[in-house]
Amino acid sequence: MDIFSKIAAGEIPSYKCAESDKFYAFLDINPLAKGHTLVIPRREVDYYFDLEDGEIAEMAVFAKKVAKAIKAAFPCRKVGMAVLGLEVAHAHIHLVPMQTEGDMNFANPKLKLSPEEFEEIARKIREKF
Ligand code: AMP
Repeated sequence: MDIFSKIAAGEIPSYKCAESDKFYAFLDINPLAKGHTLVIPRREVDYYFDLEDGEIAEMAVFAKKVAKAIKAAFPCRKVGMAVLGLEVAHAHIHLVPMQTEGDMNFANPKLKLSPEEFEEIARKIREKF
């Protein structure tokens, strides 16, 4: 199993934001902003565009609900969505609260947060989901 499959299975700890039978959402540990969340399918697929058509559609609907929860918990202009996948070989969507376009620059320095801060952020998103 890859690292994100282990996270979705609960074998590796994560700051869970939301889950369904097919998808799992958790905080990125190197966040661009408070509320930066990853959405993954439980099924092991490396490349996002190798997902089945229906899977992409269902994942988008799940990500939409997560994005609404993020925006409710962390007021922002919009929640941005990005797919990179160069680091971890398990398809995932980044959801990032944005105030400006520059907030989506993945070369930006990442926030350093304590475990307590991560847990509080995840709890706020779970409450709104
Ligand atoms: P990329 O594959 O380029 O989209 O980047 C992978 C993202 O996953 C990075 O933003 C990492 O900070 C994040 N990441 C890697 N391992 C973990 C983990 N164990 N828990 C949460 N986020 C992670």
